[in-house]
Amino acid sequence: MSSIAKIIVDIALDREFDYLIPDGMAPVVKIGTRVLVPFGHRQINGYVVGLIAKSDRHGLKQILSVVDEKPFLSDKLMELARWIADYYCASVEASIRSLLPGAVRGKGKGFKKRLFVALCGGQRAGGKEQGAGGEGGARLGSGRSLLSETPKEKARPRLAGKEERGGRRKLSGKQKGVVELLKIKGGMFLKDLTAELGITAVPVKALEKKGVLTIAPETEVRNPLANKDILRTKHLTLMPEQESALKMIIECVDAQRGDGVFHHEACSPRRGEEEGGRGDKKSHVVLLHGVTGSGKTEVYLQAIDYVLGKGQGAIVLVPEIALTPQTVERFVSRFGKRIAVLHSHLSDGERHDEWHRIRDGKADIVIGARSAVFAPVKNLGLIVVDEEHEPSYKQEDVPRYNARDVATMRGHLEGCTVVLGSATPALESWYNAKTGKYLLATLPHRADDRQMPHIRVVDMRLGKGSKGRTGVLSQDLVGAIQLRLDRAEQIILFLNRRGFATSLICEQCGYVANCDQCSVSYTYHRKDEELRCHICGGTRKVPQRCPSCKDPAFKYSGIGTQRIESIVKKCFPQANVQRIDADMTRKKDSYERILGDFRVGKTDILIGTQMIAKGLHFPNVTLVGVVYADLSLHMPDFRAGERTFQLLAQVAGRAGRGEVSGEVIIQTYTPFHTAIQAARRGDFEGFCDQEIEFRRELSYPPCGRLVCIGFRGKIEEKVSFSAITFARNLRKIIPKTVILAEATPAPLARAKGLYRYQLILRAPSSKAMTEPIGRVLADIKFPKGVSCSVDVDAISLL
Ligand code: ADP
Ligand code: ZN
Repeated sequence: MSSIAKIIVDIALDREFDYLIPDGMAPVVKIGTRVLVPFGHRQINGYVVGLIAKSDRHGLKQILSVVDEKPFLSDKLMELARWIADYYCASVEASIRSLLPGAVRGKGKGFKKRLFVALCGGQRAGGKEQGAGGEGGARLGSGRSLLSETPKEKARPRLAGKEERGGRRKLSGKQKGVVELLKIKGGMFLKDLTAELGITAVPVKALEKKGVLTIAPETEVRNPLANKDILRTKHLTLMPEQESALKMIIECVDAQRGDGVFHHEACSPRRGEEEGGRGDKKSHVVLLHGVTGSGKTEVYLQAIDYVLGKGQGAIVLVPEIALTPQTVERFVSRFGKRIAVLHSHLSDGERHDEWHRIRDGKADIVIGARSAVFAPVKNLGLIVVDEEHEPSYKQEDVPRYNARDVATMRGHLEGCTVVLGSATPALESWYNAKTGKYLLATLPHRADDRQMPHIRVVDMRLGKGSKGRTGVLSQDLVGAIQLRLDRAEQIILFLNRRGFATSLICEQCGYVANCDQCSVSYTYHRKDEELRCHICGGTRKVPQRCPSCKDPAFKYSGIGTQRIESIVKKCFPQANVQRIDADMTRKKDSYERILGDFRVGKTDILIGTQMIAKGLHFPNVTLVGVVYADLSLHMPDFRAGERTFQLLAQVAGRAGRGEVSGEVIIQTYTPFHTAIQAARRGDFEGFCDQEIEFRRELSYPPCGRLVCIGFRGKIEEKVSFSAITFARNLRKIIPKTVILAEATPAPLARAKGLYRYQLILRAPSSKAMTEPIGRVLADIKFPKGVSCSVDVDAISLL
């Protein structure tokens, strides 16, 4: 019998505490239960993370009470938290903090109660629901039953009826307005009612006194889908390729639960290779590789429908920037309000309510960004990770997990199927499919049999200097834009960089305006006439003359979306041009307004950064221009080629999604680069084969695992000393299979005033690295002001 609970507490202490479980409380104290415990002089909330029979500590205090009988975290989610802690070199506590949203953990937050107004006499006919679809049951109302609770109130309906018939004249104009509106709506929150009529609460209160209506607190479930009318859609008849992909997923789902034959790569790294083989159903992970527009989403929708039919739930992960109303609508229109949405724009209240709706089984489909992988869905049958190659699935804070990999692990633990979908899968996933760890389903054609766009590569080296223009837009691109404008079709111009110009350079002395906190150059933003650092966000006025040689002729080198916008406006003065990038999307409204304008055809040319490269669907776009494809190739990162290929493929996918076939023009200074050529041919496999060869030679992922240890601090000597010491200690104990590089300054050598050093390790398995790293970490003492972070399966090496 376990009589002691291991507990972590809310106030961010990085350790577990032992508490005695009082007699009688034992049956309800489980792993994941939230409890109240004495802590110092206070009483605070904690979570049970383990149950043991004996503790080596003395004088243990007792748990005071159980806050929630239902465990906050299921056994499986607890197990997942432990796996994350172990695999990503983090504490269990940090993992649990990731698992439970702050809005759910936090004190004082709960369901919101608001005053609800209802006519007496049972006239509440709909209109009070907060969710989409309007088919009942979203509010956890209690006030509803108030009518029948006291004799006095029971008497009221009759009275109200009398007033209705005979006493009408006694109501003021405002009061009549209230009654009329309530008759239509059935019942409303007081605030909404007064807002809609433009009145104070006084006439409503007067009506309450007269017994015409009741005002009572009711729980309002803050549903982000509220007030959205969305038409329901039906399943499409699948194309044969979609059909076989769905069949593969369904077979997986049916094979799950019970026998536990599935193995996760992280548990048994080599296993997949031995057992691999098509159709063996030895994996619970399906990689769905489908070109953009091939109908992956339709496959997800029908797979979800299948698991719902089995009484199971589903999670759909999408990258944060793809979590647009458009995406959400596609799911809501199929499944209605069984869906919960989790994204970073939710208020704490909304997040709290959505979480509880999921845990209580009121929502059984969750769609959300990275952290939705932890949603407490009951009886999970399917996890979909859309755009699985997206770097944004990686959390850059501790624990530095990758939601895609956590999804496969959660699938393994819960016996549920995981579908990873992408037009350009990450090489890691591709490799796993090729070696038999994952099943592979391919959708090589667009669903509606529309042609893939025609892709042209324009060599910018040739056009240089001709016609005296800066050459930002080639003749080919200008001609192609004009053609589309003449035909009243739409155009997207894409550049993977914001701002007006990359940097401010003095042509006389070569001075570059750099951020003094970060080792990068400032970006010039014309609208505000200022220099902005894209690392720390710091700004500075544009100097009148060069600070170094005093020359007044400053030059803006490089190109940004603002500069392209002004060039395009000059070239095509008759066209309607809009720009969209991270600078303006901090205002969420303007982002949606610009996209809305473009969708309805108000805008001819949309200029943007990678924000417009994904997920959006505009049928009238027949031309996509990539202004400078080389930008992402010049990153100091072994994945630069892969990123460039992915970006180009995604951007190309924006063209020709409607009736007219599309064209893509890629402008580049390195036209023969593998990534650019493969993107032109749409040759994903060819690109992967070549790229994997290169990675194999250098033992980079997917041909091996990689860990990056980062050191940060204000004083450079202390930082480099820490990195060198760490490397020395590590070298003594690492196995021979581990390749440990020298400690070096990171490519981004300084950011936000902190110097950055890093250590990169590569090995066939991550355990071979994380285990010794853990031992070094346990012993080492860093100088004051130096911090160290371990990034397993690091994605950004900047
Ligand atoms: P993906 O998710 O692979 O980019 P989508 O699911 O967005 O592709 O599909 C692209 C377009 O094709 C959408 O407009 C979708 O409605 C349509 N579509 C998908 N599957 C079918 C089908 N089986 N029959 C007809 N149209 C389809
Ligand atoms: Zn800076």
